[in-house]
Amino acid sequence: MDCIFCKIIAGEIPAVTVLDEELVLAFMDINPASRGHMLVIPKRHAESIFEISEGDLGAVIEAARRCAISAKEALKADGVTVLQFNGRASGQVVPHLHIHIMPRWENDGLSVSSWEMKPGDMGEIRDIAQKVKEQMSQSS
Ligand code: 5GP
Ligand code: ZN
Repeated sequence: MDCIFCKIIAGEIPAVTVLDEELVLAFMDINPASRGHMLVIPKRHAESIFEISEGDLGAVIEAARRCAISAKEALKADGVTVLQFNGRASGQVVPHLHIHIMPRWENDGLSVSSWEMKPGDMGEIRDIAQKVKEQMSQSS
C-alpha cells in the first residue's frame, strides 16, 4: 500500500519517534506548526475516523493524551491543541488517521481555530441535532 505513514511504521521512511507501542506510534511532524508538534497514529492502517475500529481509536486517543501531557510538561507549554481531520474536505492531507498534538504558548500567534463566533439559528441547530440522534439510534 502506498501510504507514507505505513512506510514510517514499517521503518521504510525515517521518523523521529516519541512513542512506539503495540497499536500506536507517535512521531514528530516534519513541518511543525508549533514547537513540539507531533502526530499520533494507529499502526493498523485506517484512513480516517470512519474506518478505524473502536479499539484502535481508543488506543490512539489514550496515547494522544499521554503525548499531550508529556509535551506540555517537557516544553513548559501553556496549553496543547489536539487536532484531527477526516477527509479531504476537512483538511486531511495524509490518508492515514493521525492526531496532531501541538504545544501552545500564550500569544504564540498560531491560528488553528479561526472560525467566526456568531450565534446560529436555534431552530436549525435543534433540527440538525434531531437528525443526528435519529441516525445514531438506527446505527447502534
Ligand atoms: P493532515 O493530513 O492532518 O493535514 O496533516 C498531515 C501532517 O503530516 C502534516 O502536518 C505534515 O507535515 C505531516 N507529514 C507529512 N509527511 C510526513 C513525513 O514524511 N514525516 C513526518 N514526520 N510528517 C509528515
Ligand atoms: Zn497507512
